[in-house]
Amino acid sequence: MNDFEVSSFMETVYEDVVKRAGEPLGHTGNWEAYRKEKKERIREVLKLPLLKRRYDTPLAWEKVKEKTEEGISVEKYRVEALQKLSLAVHVLYEGKKEELFRRRAVLFLNGHDPRGAEGAYRALSGGSPGLGTELTRMGYVVLVPELFALGEAKRREAASDLGACESCGETEPWLLNCGLNLVGLRVWEAMKTLDFAQEALGLDRFGVYGISGGGHICNYAGVLDDRIEAMMVSGYPNLYRYSTMAMVHCICNYVPGQIELGESHHITSLAAPEKKLLVMNGKQDPIFPVEGSRIAFAYLEEVYRRLGEPGNCTTVLFDGGHEISTADVCRWLRENWSPL
Ligand SMILES: [Zn+2]
Repeated sequence: MNDFEVSSFMETVYEDVVKRAGEPLGHTGNWEAYRKEKKERIREVLKLPLLKRRYDTPLAWEKVKEKTEEGISVEKYRVEALQKLSLAVHVLYEGKKEELFRRRAVLFLNGHDPRGAEGAYRALSGGSPGLGTELTRMGYVVLVPELFALGEAKRREAASDLGACESCGETEPWLLNCGLNLVGLRVWEAMKTLDFAQEALGLDRFGVYGISGGGHICNYAGVLDDRIEAMMVSGYPNLYRYSTMAMVHCICNYVPGQIELGESHHITSLAAPEKKLLVMNGKQDPIFPVEGSRIAFAYLEEVYRRLGEPGNCTTVLFDGGHEISTADVCRWLRENWSPL
């Protein structure tokens, strides 16, 4: 500590920005108008209108690979996400393809898994099946986009063993300098995946599951996209103050002006009251600490209660760290949003 430390100013700025962003609980009386305006503002901060205006491209896709693994069909598509940007989407299902339109689909947003999109459904090191495989066996169609800078979607100069966070570090500065950000591009890709699933596969009922960095994308895409009925945010729901602002996290967690929209749980609350919401963290998660989880979870329960649908919000603190809790996700889905 010395006379020139900067923490006091940083704390003042944070308190000021959060206060100016407003309090969702103070707007439950005019919720629809409040939510509509807030969602517009989120789109602007994520640069979604700019992407649409300058770089969008007509929806087009092509199947590039297909195989069957232990009774599960795994198809990989190239979807044109933006001009000069192709998006890999992995589609998993059991049964006849002609009958997929009857099913519900889970959009699976993976985090900094070194295996990229495949990590959503490949067996884990302990030998247990990945969550994506479990969801497919339950009867869902599972859609896994390879999000910008992750997995195969790195720069052409990237070393073959480049880590996910290093890839974020190689892409985000470029995007920021150009007035864009990784989160906005990934949210765009998540929504484009749903466009593709509707047009190419005839699907129209969607849930979204996001883990860790994918939870960040889920937190925005889940509330912005009206096609999404069920939202599962995992290894992420918290307050920025206790998690991504309290310790070093990957650079992709930061978006210019993000907190001008509100704290992380304020964004999640925009799912209320009609969307089914599951928020979950491990009690021992060191990077999304339980102290912040408890504050966020209690807040979300209160928003849903005040808006008259307390049963649509489920909070889970499980015994574990920064990880997927497959059993808790599957149980919640069975009870709240069945595959048919
Ligand atoms: Zn990252």
